[in-house]
Amino acid sequence: MNLTEGPEDRAFRSEIREWLGDHLAGDWASLRGLGGPGREHQAHDERLAWNRHLAEHGWTAVGWPVEHGGRGLSLWQQVIFHEEYARSDAPAGVNHLGEQLLGPTLIAFGTPEQQRRFLPEIVAVRELWAQGYSEPGAGSDLANVQTRARLDESAGEWVIDGQKVWTSLAHLSDWCFVVARTEGGSTRHHGLSFLLVPLRQDGVEVRPIEQLTGGSEFNEVFFSGARTAADLVVGEPGRGWGVAMGLLGFERGVSTLGQTVGFARELDSVVTRAKQNGAIDDPVVRDRLATLKAELAVIRSYALRALALVEGGQDSAAGGGAGSIFKLAWAGWHRTLGEVAMDVAGRDGLLARDSGTPYDLDDHQRLFLFSRADTIYGGSDEIQRNILAERVLGLPREPKGA
Ligand SMILES: Cc1cc2nc3c(=O)[nH]c(=O)nc-3n(C[C@H](O)[C@H](O)[C@H](O)COP(=O)(O)OP(=O)(O)OC[C@H]3O[C@@H](n4cnc5c(N)ncnc54)[C@H](O)[C@@H]3O)c2cc1C
Repeated sequence: MNLTEGPEDRAFRSEIREWLGDHLAGDWASLRGLGGPGREHQAHDERLAWNRHLAEHGWTAVGWPVEHGGRGLSLWQQVIFHEEYARSDAPAGVNHLGEQLLGPTLIAFGTPEQQRRFLPEIVAVRELWAQGYSEPGAGSDLANVQTRARLDESAGEWVIDGQKVWTSLAHLSDWCFVVARTEGGSTRHHGLSFLLVPLRQDGVEVRPIEQLTGGSEFNEVFFSGARTAADLVVGEPGRGWGVAMGLLGFERGVSTLGQTVGFARELDSVVTRAKQNGAIDDPVVRDRLATLKAELAVIRSYALRALALVEGGQDSAAGGGAGSIFKLAWAGWHRTLGEVAMDVAGRDGLLARDSGTPYDLDDHQRLFLFSRADTIYGGSDEIQRNILAERVLGLPREPKGA
């Protein structure tokens, strides 16, 4: 990938910037800055409407191939799109899991019927998706999944029983992709299947989990005789592990570059606060802010290089070294930013405002609390370091269960 921006790229950047400037006006303007991790409760329905507006103008699924309803942008154009989107302060998307994770997975592993059934609904933001991987005993150790599914041949349906946890946005979603054990007596990554399950049915109970930040963005999901059609298994039954891992490879994709623009905005807002409340006079605060600025520039450059490596086939998207290094770098950086934000806020950081339900946090308090999760989801820091140790450095593998 050529990392220098040519005239065509600059024209494309201007086109998006202009479009977003024109369209984030009127009623839509009030949605600026809303949503995203830690703030998913904000104006969900309005953001859904905005996402559908983007879809009507061809600005969803921009990296998908045109034949699957996407815009077919090159990798670099996708980077430009996500950066400009973040720079404009447009509201966060409501179907990240459908667009960034499930869609590319169906394009890679799904049947033509599955692609025809689901992809247009994701592009148009008519169906929202949740990810049903983690369970109380299967997080980092995902191969320990205990949720079971059996095929009811007479009904032509899978019947699912078990529990998922930390299922982001399931309470707002229509469908969930579920990793379930479909072969009795199987263990570890054998005998698992990747099922597409409708959430709005009697056999599914979604219980929101209340967070430190006051909102509820993820859930416990209980399956008790839940059903889905026999043909809604992606890949071969019993071979779902490969599909599930393929999907994780998309998790650290190109949209994360837009995230670094969002991080730069957050850092700017911390600097602004430090100037306003005098914290900037503390040389230690100045030193930490400057360090954060320099580190963020390095992280962005590294991310671009990592994407170029993946595109050039020199690193694997699914858990290769570059993805793990990038995840470790940005997650740790963001958590430190949250800590610095609280130091800059001083005593104000300890006070919750009394409006809102159940209590209202300012952006920096929310940043501090939610960024604690960054080093956990999408593979914790320890797991990323294990990947680097075992697959990249070739150190001895840690002992696994049977
Ligand atoms: C904000 C957020 C959103 C999430 N959204 C979803 C979602 O939508 N769908 C979904 O399926 N899941 C989701 N998750 C779950 C997430 O994938 C898990 O939290 C993560 O995989 C860790 O699993 P766990 O919580 O069970 O912790 P555990 O796996 O029990 O880990 C506990 C601690 O032990 C460490 N540890 C575990 N194994 C090892 C090891 N082998 N070596 C060294 N250290 C180890 C971990 O790093 C961690 O510090 C989300 C989590 C968060 C925080």
